[in-house]
Amino acid sequence: MKQRVFSGARPTGRQHIGNYLGAIQNYVDLQDKYDCIYCIVDIHALTTLESTSELQQNIFEMMLDWLAAGLDPKKSIIFVQSHVTEVTELFTFLGMLTPLGWLLRVPTFKEKARMQPQNVNYGLVGYPVLMAADIILYKTNVVPVGEDQLPHLEMTREIVRRFNSIFGETFPEPQAKLTSFPMVLGLNGGQKMGKSYNNHIELAATPEETLERVRTAVTDPARQRRNDPGHPEVCNVFTLHGYFNPGRTEEIAAQCKVAGIGCVDCKKILAGGINSALKDFRERRHALEQDPDHIYDVLADGAKRAQSIARKTITEVKAKMGLIRA
Ligand code: SF4
Repeated sequence: MKQRVFSGARPTGRQHIGNYLGAIQNYVDLQDKYDCIYCIVDIHALTTLESTSELQQNIFEMMLDWLAAGLDPKKSIIFVQSHVTEVTELFTFLGMLTPLGWLLRVPTFKEKARMQPQNVNYGLVGYPVLMAADIILYKTNVVPVGEDQLPHLEMTREIVRRFNSIFGETFPEPQAKLTSFPMVLGLNGGQKMGKSYNNHIELAATPEETLERVRTAVTDPARQRRNDPGHPEVCNVFTLHGYFNPGRTEEIAAQCKVAGIGCVDCKKILAGGINSALKDFRERRHALEQDPDHIYDVLADGAKRAQSIARKTITEVKAKMGLIRA
């Protein structure tokens, strides 16, 4: 029996190279070793969205990227969170045994409450409980996480321990599988790559759009003129070369240090590397886009398979909590 992996991602639409290097690539690799469940967490998105008008399109675009990148519905269950309503049942039950004090202490709640003071909703404070429900509904063993998400997973583990101690051994304590990919900085070199900072490159961008985006990238701030020697170790363009032109980094670093290459040309080489690395991905994505029914079929099948696991868990939980006859 393979161990089960669960991971959820918000429906953020077209994915960028930071998503790919930081998560999607890892999702693809895990498929052969684990029984994987990948979920687009649309209910979580409701805690922060001002409008839901783009939600469906964002789910569709994200699915195109996931499937084109290699997520395989024959190997993994891929579905949308709200299509398996058992998660909201479990969320409610877990909410009855999660102390409010635990939730109010979560740093991301405080941060989100600060960022959207006009909408500090109940879902924001209950976010870790819904996340726990997502994970344990499928009796997950392993959750791929970055270091920054470890406290969230610890909360899930605490909720599991509490449930098991009150109602008897029911859920495995999910273990963290730390992703080995580092945080990918955005084109401004200041923050993690993300759409909200507009410092990203979409996987589905055309080669021309990719070059345009790379042209905006911040480089070594000490290199003011073409003839100034550069410091590749502080330049995010150079870091990105490491992912997309791994065979050329020594040469680029050496040339940069003696001003043998200018930043304009260096960025053209980077855009070329990104475009050739993503060529096959973009062809697959284009083909998938021509057949939207296939995307919806994958999601419907994923929801059906996820629900068959979820129903068993909910029946067991209700019996253990005394809500139905054991
Ligand atoms: Fe960065 Fe390349 Fe310019 Fe050197 S030449 S500072 S590595 S963009």
